Amino acid sequence: MSIIVAVPRETFPGESRVALTPAAVTALVKNKLAVVVESGAGAAAGYADASYEAKGARIADRGEVFATADILLQVRCTLSPQSPDFQLLKPSALLIGFCDPLGTPAAVAEASKKGISLISMELIPRITRAQAMDALSSQANIAGYKAVVMAANASPKIFPMLMTAAGTLQAARVFVVGVGVAGLQAISTARRLGGVVSAFDVRPEVKEQVQSVGAKFVELPLDTAGAADKGGYAKALSADQQKKQAELMAKVVAESDVVITTAAVPGRPAPKLIPASAVERMQPGSVIVDLAAERGGNCELTEPGKTVVKHGVTIIGHTNIPATVAQHSSAMYANNLAKLLALMVNKEGALKIDQADEVISGSLVCHGGKVVHPRVTEVLGAKAPAIGVGAVPAAAAVGASRVEAVAIGGAR
Ligand code: NAD
Repeated sequence: MSIIVAVPRETFPGESRVALTPAAVTALVKNKLAVVVESGAGAAAGYADASYEAKGARIADRGEVFATADILLQVRCTLSPQSPDFQLLKPSALLIGFCDPLGTPAAVAEASKKGISLISMELIPRITRAQAMDALSSQANIAGYKAVVMAANASPKIFPMLMTAAGTLQAARVFVVGVGVAGLQAISTARRLGGVVSAFDVRPEVKEQVQSVGAKFVELPLDTAGAADKGGYAKALSADQQKKQAELMAKVVAESDVVITTAAVPGRPAPKLIPASAVERMQPGSVIVDLAAERGGNCELTEPGKTVVKHGVTIIGHTNIPATVAQHSSAMYANNLAKLLALMVNKEGALKIDQADEVISGSLVCHGGKVVHPRVTEVLGAKAPAIGVGAVPAAAAVGASRVEAVAIGGAR
């Protein structure tokens, strides 16, 4: 009998992505997997039931999806142990999705107690071999693009310079703060729209990347030597350095029509880099898109989940921008999952959770009735490398969130 890969409709508020697309069904069926999709699962992303059926998936109701899943694919693995969905799952099921293992440790513990295995997409190691499975990057790419489109839509100005009989319009000045995956895509998109783009990142090695996509790297008299760890991620600045950075950037912010902020330090809340005083200095009609809103925001005036106007400046604090481009975000995410499954399923369609593989061990949260991820067990307060869930302290949350889960991704 084939292993059943099941895909439910997402129920997280505002989540319009779907974990599997019809195109990705083809890859799974080729790997001898049977695919069951909840009726309407892809509707919000523009994928009809019939498209899944045409690729060899079977459409079923929600109860059947959860009850038959050997592997359950989700965007948001929101594990509520009290939910009927959770009760229906087979104890041997493998769940794969953004699981927020540190933000919801109690749910992880319950899943583990039931025997369920959990792979958290936030934790896929960011190594070259795992690039095709790196869902943080695929979704950040989309977010970087859409942030610019949202800014252009909210701006009372157009981006390109125009010289016409009716007069000359200056190109929009766009400033991107934080040049990781999302930031680089934001720069490229703003350039394609005709904006004049500058960018800053505390990692000095980013300068060349910024220039290679046609933007100016803003030089700030800030000592950023050692700002990156050996995995290539930014380290947190001291409070003094952060304050100095905010002061130095304020002039560039004030002169910009659009500011896109993406600055993040794994394991920490987003650094506050744009104080209210800097927003006050911006021209009315300017726009800030704060891609760090989900982690608290880079701008002091950002209200996560909302668009607000402060001092005449529109500040967009959307916390799930990839969901606003659900068809393409889902397509990339589904490909990430298909590549991950290809790593775990052999030619006969049999599943192997190979903990000797660093991609699997890096992202496996619980397996065989135990919480197995060392960083997760550490946060749960256990000393042993793997613990039975019975030992998980009730107050293990320690304010952890997906932010911290990102830090677990490991070295590149
Ligand atoms: P991220 O989301 O953790 O952070 C976004 C950016 O914010 C980073 O570039 C960081 O340096 C920057 N930042 C942090 N503090 C800042 C501050 N005070 N001021 C300005 N900028 C600040 O980053 P990410 O998008 O996940 O990528 C981090 C790095 O990892 C990038 O170099 C990226 O290219 C690389 N990466 C490599 C792989 C791979 O090799 N498989 C995969 C993904 C990302």
